[in-house]
Amino acid sequence: MKLGHTIDNLVDALKRLPGIGPRSAQRIAFHLLQHDRDAALRLGESLLIAARTIGQCQRCNTLTEQAICATCSSAKRDAQLLCVVESPADQLVIEQSLAYGGLYFVLMGRLSPLDGIGPREIQMERLLARVADQIVREVIVATSFTPEGDATAHYVTQLVRERDPQLKVTRLARGVPAGAELEYTDVNTVAQAMLDRRAD
Ligand SMILES: [Zn+2]
Repeated sequence: MKLGHTIDNLVDALKRLPGIGPRSAQRIAFHLLQHDRDAALRLGESLLIAARTIGQCQRCNTLTEQAICATCSSAKRDAQLLCVVESPADQLVIEQSLAYGGLYFVLMGRLSPLDGIGPREIQMERLLARVADQIVREVIVATSFTPEGDATAHYVTQLVRERDPQLKVTRLARGVPAGAELEYTDVNTVAQAMLDRRAD
């Protein structure tokens, strides 16, 4: 059955979402059009507004509507601590663990040479400039415990130490299971791993 250009476009757009295959994309498209036009309109409008208004924080890279995000501009955060994470989702799980009160630097990725993601893509120069600001005293590397997360952690640790040997560099403790993505790890485990963090 030919669905028509407009529905095809919708299904194609849905297929690009993570974890959504062709069948699911079709199911979602039909569901929205057949049963829930309100949800379809709300989804469309929210996406449009979010995609147009949400940018990245000029200090930490996280997603925000402001030039500087609420965390970076908060006077309550401990500016001596800088936690390096791969993504805003990882940052969120650390925030939810309530075990951390410092600032962040979000790499927006992790080293993955096969995918063409190198030091430039994860903004190493900006990170190194940031840790040299004379305010940061400890850099906490909180990348995932996956092979790529480990490689990224190793690289970040090495370069930060080269830039400033006085800085303390720690990594989340190994309480987080090997192979685990931080964003899918439960918050209690993340809290413990933060408290038990140590120098590599
Ligand atoms: Zn920020």
